[in-house]
Amino acid sequence: MNLILLGPPGAGKGTQAKKMIDALGVPQISTGDILRAAVKDGTPMGVEAKKFMDAGQLVPDSVVIGIIADRLKESDCDKGFILDGFPRTVAQADALEAMLRKMDKDIDDVVSIEVPDEDLLGRLTGRRMCTCGASFHVMFNKPKLEGICDLCGKELYQRDDDREEAIRERLVNYHKQTAPLIEFYTERGKLRAIPGTGSVDDIFNGIMRVVRG
Ligand code: AMP
Repeated sequence: MNLILLGPPGAGKGTQAKKMIDALGVPQISTGDILRAAVKDGTPMGVEAKKFMDAGQLVPDSVVIGIIADRLKESDCDKGFILDGFPRTVAQADALEAMLRKMDKDIDDVVSIEVPDEDLLGRLTGRRMCTCGASFHVMFNKPKLEGICDLCGKELYQRDDDREEAIRERLVNYHKQTAPLIEFYTERGKLRAIPGTGSVDDIFNGIMRVVRG
């Protein structure tokens, strides 16, 4: 099962991908998580990527395409994968298609999580993350103890790019660079649109229906 989760920043791609790992038994591949780990480790790629990420801009295609090319070769991807946050440009989608063709693989479904723009700013400014990968929201998905992760007990933090100025830039760039992928995958008969409003479980059930259907 080779899946892509598409949607604007704040649509809930990461939250849904984490639930899908258990349900489908395939790994989540998040370019955002991989880049944040590189930033934290201070690698040359991380130092370079941080400038773009903090400004709410996309990291250059060549960098993320290289990350995905390496990651897809790992053996845990043999049974399938959930791409979360990749591709984000038509050039990345073209590169992915070529990469998978060489591996004799293809994308099965592209799940497009649809959320109106006016909901996204509030979702992102209220988002709180844990280094274990869990994500919470100060209003819509509160941790049991304020500021503390329910899963591992560590202190939650706010992403550097979840500041209003960076969020606005990310939304503009989403519409300019990533939204054209909706047409790209519609033309290929792979797009499955899912309403991204409602409870996390409702959205998850909607996704499971389309990917299992
Ligand atoms: P995310 O966690 O998916 O919201 O990604 C956080 C940031 O990482 C994005 O705003 C971009 O700066 C960068 N990034 C993640 N995935 C990609 C990608 N596929 N192409 C370019 N930049 C990316």
